[in-house]
Amino acid sequence: MLYDVIIIGGGPAACAAAVYTARKKLKTLLIAESFGGQSIVSDDIQNWIGEPHIAGFDLAKKLEGHVRAFPDMVEIHSPEKAVKVSGISCEEGRPCDYAVETDRGNTYQGKAVILAAGARRRKLGVPGEEKFEGKGVAYCSTCDAALFADKKVAVVGGGNAGLEAAIDLFPYASEVYVMEFGESPKGDPVTLEEIKQNPKLKGIIVNAQTLEVVGDTFVAGIKYKDRKTNEEKMLAVDGVFIEIGSVPNSEFVKGLVDLDTFGQVIIDSKHASTSQPGIFAAGDITDDPYKQNNISAGDAVKAALSAYAYILQRQKTSPAAEK
Ligand SMILES: Cc1cc2nc3c(=O)[nH]c(=O)nc-3n(C[C@H](O)[C@H](O)[C@H](O)COP(=O)(O)OP(=O)(O)OC[C@H]3O[C@@H](n4cnc5c(N)ncnc54)[C@H](O)[C@@H]3O)c2cc1C
Repeated sequence: MLYDVIIIGGGPAACAAAVYTARKKLKTLLIAESFGGQSIVSDDIQNWIGEPHIAGFDLAKKLEGHVRAFPDMVEIHSPEKAVKVSGISCEEGRPCDYAVETDRGNTYQGKAVILAAGARRRKLGVPGEEKFEGKGVAYCSTCDAALFADKKVAVVGGGNAGLEAAIDLFPYASEVYVMEFGESPKGDPVTLEEIKQNPKLKGIIVNAQTLEVVGDTFVAGIKYKDRKTNEEKMLAVDGVFIEIGSVPNSEFVKGLVDLDTFGQVIIDSKHASTSQPGIFAAGDITDDPYKQNNISAGDAVKAALSAYAYILQRQKTSPAAEK
């Protein structure tokens, strides 16, 4: 069977795309490793428009429920993970179809593909990080800063994300520390100056190699090594924000669409199109600078509408390709 659109992902981007392709009557296959996306772990999402407060888990259920409201148009394969996308039947004068191979050994074919597989947070990989995730260890300051009211917080990462996390935390936390692996923070000088002016910034600790997040039920501190002196030190904090970047889930389209140096899919933000005709992308998998639920959903709507326009155009210009 040749689907009109294959959507890869199960977060806000994929679900928004599926709702729109369904309403355009495109025969859609959605392949999702899981539903909900990265913010599923958040206890309290306060910026999903229309919901002043919603738990990540509840948002995930709503997103999945919305996609499942179109059983005639959207076939859902979950849990299933795309492992490779390739162009097929790309003969002269005819648009490519695409084959999506999955971890279950299945291969599906579609006229268009929407990449919405998001990203995963880059982890420190130290003891305690996983144990205390959601119990003082956090990865999204825009989302979770308000949960650290009157708490002492360390931000690991002195790049722009780390400095901006400090700015997000100032209105809430009682004390903020920025810990940088290198000799000096890598973020913009202007942002650095801005955070230095804030009395809640109690220190920028450089040459700091995080060794462990410690605590009992909740985070109680962060153990690190001073890379200059090799001395092991402990900073007592209630929270640790890890802001060392994210890794896009784009491995399965490497070589097919253009990626930037971080592995993000490069898109034309007007149409959510990629370098490969018929392949669109939205959300955290892309090089869009802002990584948020609403943005992922909104950009995915563009991807879905662009896929619809692409398929209409394909029908007009290459009717032989339509089976
Ligand atoms: C802890 C945390 C809290 C956050 N809180 C907020 C918040 O309060 N507000 C906000 O606006 N933003 C928040 N964010 C950011 C927000 O979660 C992301 O911007 C958003 O989830 C991106 O959506 P997405 O659909 O592009 O990708 P993702 O959310 O990353 O979803 C990707 C989906 O694709 C699936 N997938 C991955 N690879 C494959 C594959 N190969 N095949 C099939 N499926 C695959 C995954 O299982 C997942 O379901 C938070 C982020 C984190 C980490």
